[in-house]
Amino acid sequence: MGRIVGIDLGTTNSVIGVLEAGRPFVIANAEGSRTTPSVIGYTKGSELVVGQQARRQLVLNPRNTFSNLKRFVGRFWDELDESSLNVPYTVRANDQGCVRVTCPITEREYAPEELIGSVIRKLIDDAEKHLDENIDSAVITVPAYFNDSQRQATKDAALLAGIKVQRILNEPTAAALAYGFDKSSSSRVLVFDLGGGTFDISLLRISNGVFDVKATSGDTQLGGNDFDQKIVDWLADNFEKEHDIDLRRDRQSLQRLSEAAEKAKQELSGINSTPISLPFIATGPNGPLHIETTLERKHFESLCKDLIDRLLKPVEIALGDSGWTADEINDVVLVGGSTRMPMVQQLVKTIVPVPPSQSVNPDEVVAIGAAVQGGILTGELRDLLLNDVTPLSLGLETVGGLMKVLIPRNTPIPVRQADVFSTSQANQSSVEINVWQGERQLASDNKSLGRFRLSGIPPAPRGVPQVQVAFDIDANGLLQVSATDRTTGRKQSVSINGGSNMNEDEVNKLINEAKEKADSDRRKRASIDQKNNALTLVAQAERRLRDVSLEFGPYGAERQQRAVEVSLRDVQDFLENDDLAELDIAVSALQEALFGLNRRVSAEKRIDNNPIQGIKNTFGSLKDELFSDDYWDDDPWDYQPNSRGANSDYIDREKDRWDNDFYN
Ligand code: ADP
Ligand code: MG
Repeated sequence: MGRIVGIDLGTTNSVIGVLEAGRPFVIANAEGSRTTPSVIGYTKGSELVVGQQARRQLVLNPRNTFSNLKRFVGRFWDELDESSLNVPYTVRANDQGCVRVTCPITEREYAPEELIGSVIRKLIDDAEKHLDENIDSAVITVPAYFNDSQRQATKDAALLAGIKVQRILNEPTAAALAYGFDKSSSSRVLVFDLGGGTFDISLLRISNGVFDVKATSGDTQLGGNDFDQKIVDWLADNFEKEHDIDLRRDRQSLQRLSEAAEKAKQELSGINSTPISLPFIATGPNGPLHIETTLERKHFESLCKDLIDRLLKPVEIALGDSGWTADEINDVVLVGGSTRMPMVQQLVKTIVPVPPSQSVNPDEVVAIGAAVQGGILTGELRDLLLNDVTPLSLGLETVGGLMKVLIPRNTPIPVRQADVFSTSQANQSSVEINVWQGERQLASDNKSLGRFRLSGIPPAPRGVPQVQVAFDIDANGLLQVSATDRTTGRKQSVSINGGSNMNEDEVNKLINEAKEKADSDRRKRASIDQKNNALTLVAQAERRLRDVSLEFGPYGAERQQRAVEVSLRDVQDFLENDDLAELDIAVSALQEALFGLNRRVSAEKRIDNNPIQGIKNTFGSLKDELFSDDYWDDDPWDYQPNSRGANSDYIDREKDRWDNDFYN
């Protein structure tokens, strides 16, 4: 089995990790960052951009740039609350009531899973480059409190990215794995995970490599974004009072407000007061209008009282379910960027009085845990055992619309549970099995996971036929339901995906489309890279020619100069004609010609008996190679040509390297 990477697919940021020689580590993306913004966009030229690049166009291209998509994954339109719809892009319901995201530039609608799939693809692409191997399997984490449809939809997103999900792992459980996988002592741990869009809480007992999740709870619609929104509303309300303009109605202003709010929020984690400045945010009758204000931490905290209250409830529920008291908890692991807020840390301290563990990085710990789980699945890590639970109760709708729970929340998984049901009317020939997930008494107050019908029941008085319904939850927390008529042995079983945003046909169609596109995308990208590299080389060659003729005169190294000029012209021609096959050859020729020219120049300098001038020349040419722009305005060398100052060692060393390159 190949390697299985671990992916923390966050609302705001995503991270990918892998196990290397038994130790988990995080892989930096192509831009060099260890976290990748979960943002997807299409540029004005309809080109797909993901991560930092997409994040950068949030303000300028708000309709075609999609963030916070995780809030929509696996949810129906009418399950969304208003705050989730507060996004600068357009979301709507399709005929089946599924959430669809509209992208004007590509003139297409996307399922949230499809766009999130692009984030997974980027993480995988970058990791493949880093590891120099193909990756086709991953462990993907989800909030513990995700229901069955949200899990199913996450799996679909990975499928669309061409990745097989080996395990869906709960984020807090992953965090606990990362925290405890190399500890031998036994402890009771509380994981408190507040990210950008979701809140999770889990209580675990860790003992000699065995991880027992005792209880889990949370809120999949509560996170750092809601804290940003408080500041956005505060700013926008004040502005509206003063100027009678609601900034939230303009996509671009809304995006600028959101960014300023998030920045202020983050600064207030470190300082007590922060300025907020948004020049030219709108235009009034008398010209441009600006926001220029200061937010105090105290005031911010007072704006967020209700959010802090909402954090408390799930903790209480989880503690109640675990049967533990707060003072029985030995360790607290804080996960997610939002746990950096002092008011959140204060809250945790008031619940559990032990200081939080400092041994984990809140941004990376989930991906690290997922990588550890990947290692457990491949067998590279042994003696670790993970016993997770199902976060929400599962049941059937019975007479009167009541929810009959078959598997209560916090039951260890995998689990199989069966019960026998009967008909409610005489001679009823079929029964409808209606599956729900949630904690409310009335089935319809919970989340419907799907329904199916078992037919062919022989005529009998009511209450006589015996239909056995069995629920199976696998280690991913995914559900399968079957119903058997005990008299006839007739069986009907379904894997539940009623709540998933996309049906199987749609998923398959998109996978095929993506495969075709991936090839052409790769080709397109390769040709863009090829042209960019050629352009860089052209600029380098031109500068080199200019420098050489300045230093040695136009005929100082005539043969070599001419060779560069000729191949330079070839490269430019092929670039212009878009002839990529010939371009490759011309680029190699130009590289060779430049090499020849450099060699000649170095030889020329060796003859030069003024050592300082020689070094200076060498340094000058080296500088050109190192920086493709005219980068150094102040050449430190020019200021102190005769001193052996701090730079001289460096330059001597570089000179050696330079000479060796050409003479060995
Ligand atoms: P997710 O798991 O949802 O992707 P992260 O764990 O990456 O989220 O956390 C992102 C959230 O953390 C964002 O709302 C961000 O504003 C918030 N955040 C990051 N740093 C800080 C900070 N210093 N203070 C307050 N909030 C922060
Ligand atoms: Mg997270």
